[in-house]
Amino acid sequence: MATLRDMVRTYRYVGPPDVHAVAANVTVLREAGDLDGVAGEEAFTFVVDLDGLLRIAPRRSEHVACAGGRDVRAAGEVAFGRGAGGWTVTYASNQSTGYCPDLPSWHALADALDRAGIGRPDGFTEPFVFRRCPACGALNVVREEVYVCALCDADLPRRWNVD
Ligand SMILES: [Zn+2]
Repeated sequence: MATLRDMVRTYRYVGPPDVHAVAANVTVLREAGDLDGVAGEEAFTFVVDLDGLLRIAPRRSEHVACAGGRDVRAAGEVAFGRGAGGWTVTYASNQSTGYCPDLPSWHALADALDRAGIGRPDGFTEPFVFRRCPACGALNVVREEVYVCALCDADLPRRWNVD
């Protein structure tokens, strides 16, 4: 049986084309010390790039800018706190309407955090379930297991289908 880890894949940008050109102030997190002087109270936009590296940028940055316009393995928002054991993730979501990543993208983020020596929870603290409506094409965020399009009431598929 396939595990969630086997479902790690790459995601291409599906948002509006005009934000590609916007540059982001990106920090690449290769080790926990890269957060020193960068992380504070605010959450960050993040992506995990095709090399498996975690890239963060100020929260209002577009994910596609954080990714340099490339495909990603994960995208969302992340916040860090500093405890006795060093830096750790206090919040993580896959909220990115630019890439709409599926839940197994967590493993790409988890692997990047583990390599950098940054503490983490066991999954997204705020998971988002993205689906494209097969009838009207609208992008939906599924709430409370209700797989129905918010615009046209059509049924949404159980499987991730945004691309
Ligand atoms: Zn619809």
